[in-house]
Amino acid sequence: MDTRRIEEGVRLILEGVGEDLTREGIVDTPKRVARAMGECLAGMRQDASELFEVSFDAACHDIVVVRDIPFFSLCEHHLLPFFGSAHVAYIPGESGRVCGISKLARTVDVYAKRLQLQERLCSQVADAVDEALHPLGVLVVMEAEHLCMTMRGVRKPGAVTTTSAVRGGFARNAATRAEAMKLIFDGRASGL
Ligand code: ZN
Repeated sequence: MDTRRIEEGVRLILEGVGEDLTREGIVDTPKRVARAMGECLAGMRQDASELFEVSFDAACHDIVVVRDIPFFSLCEHHLLPFFGSAHVAYIPGESGRVCGISKLARTVDVYAKRLQLQERLCSQVADAVDEALHPLGVLVVMEAEHLCMTMRGVRKPGAVTTTSAVRGGFARNAATRAEAMKLIFDGRASGL
């Protein structure tokens, strides 16, 4: 990431909005924004497949769900944050091998920390799990609030955008998909 270019760009924005670049509160803002961008977009330099190099023989043939994974991303249209919860479900492949469950949360992070669209983020997470684990099925549901929609534009605070991506058995079999959805949403209703 070229931090000097980012700093130049931030200086132009500040000039454009009519700020005084020498003002005390602003003088280090270009540097701070460049650092923040580096962190918020760290996933651009990460490869999710490396997360799955280790897997475990769990002889598991049932649905594994990790839900309520918090994520923060930046929308590529406005460079404003969108954030919410991701829920990832998969059915291990014939081998019954599973990944460490934290790896699912880290996969969400790798793709969220990029300039994104929620729809694409959701399918990239599903594809990454699908390619790495060769599971019988993958289901990813993401719920998010987009600041480009709540603090500007139509200004609808609290509006939640839900996206889903389904692969394999979850796509083919409505009952299996419904079971995963139940595990995701009923658990939350019970306050767990
Ligand atoms: Zn946007």
